[in-house]
Amino acid sequence: MIHLVQVALENEMDLTLAYKKSNKAAALIGLSISTQTAFATAVSEVCREIIDKTHEGSLSIEIQGSNDRHDLAAVITYLETEGVDNLREGLQHAKKLVPVFNHSIINSRGKIELKLNIPRSAKLSNEKMKAIKSYFELVEPNTPYEELRQRNTLLFQINEQSETALRQAEYLNEQKNEFLSVAGHELKTPLTILRAYTQMALRSECSPATLAHIKKVDTQALKLQTMILQLLDISRIEKGIADYNIELVDFNGYLNDMADLIRLLVPSHELLITMDESRMVNIDKLRIEQVFMNIVGNAAKYSPSGEQIMLDTRFLGNGDLLISVRDQGIGMSEEDLHKVFEKFYRVQDITTLFNGLGMGLFICSKIITDHGGKIWVESIKGQGSTFFFTLPAPVEFS
Ligand code: ADP
Repeated sequence: MIHLVQVALENEMDLTLAYKKSNKAAALIGLSISTQTAFATAVSEVCREIIDKTHEGSLSIEIQGSNDRHDLAAVITYLETEGVDNLREGLQHAKKLVPVFNHSIINSRGKIELKLNIPRSAKLSNEKMKAIKSYFELVEPNTPYEELRQRNTLLFQINEQSETALRQAEYLNEQKNEFLSVAGHELKTPLTILRAYTQMALRSECSPATLAHIKKVDTQALKLQTMILQLLDISRIEKGIADYNIELVDFNGYLNDMADLIRLLVPSHELLITMDESRMVNIDKLRIEQVFMNIVGNAAKYSPSGEQIMLDTRFLGNGDLLISVRDQGIGMSEEDLHKVFEKFYRVQDITTLFNGLGMGLFICSKIITDHGGKIWVESIKGQGSTFFFTLPAPVEFS
């Protein structure tokens, strides 16, 4: 007989341990998963009755027999025999799960033996039995307390590792934000000067060809400026310091003022604007301009030159303003509809075809939600996209 492991049966934790140990013993021997489960369930059914009804219960898991015939056995002994008879539900159940079930009582000590034959296919050599025995001696904890201690140590190590990884990630993130912020500021100043000069040149007297060239320079400078603002915004948003200058504005007047600027951004597309009646809205003008520039800019970027872009505004029944920007471009698949608002997300198959950083829509969604609105997109791949966003009706104070 080879004794593998002993478990004192005192409380619920011992029951869990009894289940695990018997399951592990059957697994290490190489019994099938269903046999492992049947054996472990039978053992724990008996152990539950013993813990409930008796004192000094103890479980011993053993390999019995010799040479050509071996059994896996669970021997449960206990004191105080009155509460335990074979009619008890747990014992009845256990009996059905294992081929051998013996229950004897001698001098007030009870003994229940559960056994099952180990098939030859398990190839249970002496070496294998020794290995299983030493596994239980060296690796498996012997008491619930020991098991808890081992798990605690493991959890502590995992916790340490993830905290270190988190600190490292936070540090790298801070470095990245710092870099974005410094690089953004450094790039912003020369570009602002560059645009001031292109604007001046556009108003000066020069040949139509030169004017056209300057206009192109100005358009590209504007795009660059938008990207730099995005870089700066990402770092501000990450730091949670995106600031807003909210004011009450007449929306149609605001949109009319902005229309030229937006058109400048999409010179090779036809921008059609349809406006609902004019009402007042509470917005940060620059930030909402940024949203328009990004969404309309995308509509042009992701659709062929010469196509129309439709910008509509409509006041909803609840007073909210709904703005939609529709293009007839490449569209996107169903699964990209939500992801495009995530930071740095770009639709996979377009990355080599179109330039971009995947920041614009993330910033737009942040700006719109900070205004109390919603943003979403409807699209069919190959058939264009419509971006929608809402701006809530101004709160009226009486
Ligand atoms: P960027 O355009 O710089 O990559 P955005 O955050 O503005 O970043 O957009 C994220 C992604 O959403 C884009 O890379 C593109 O895949 C997709 N996308 C945005 N607008 C459109 C559009 N109008 N049509 C098709 N795809 C779009």
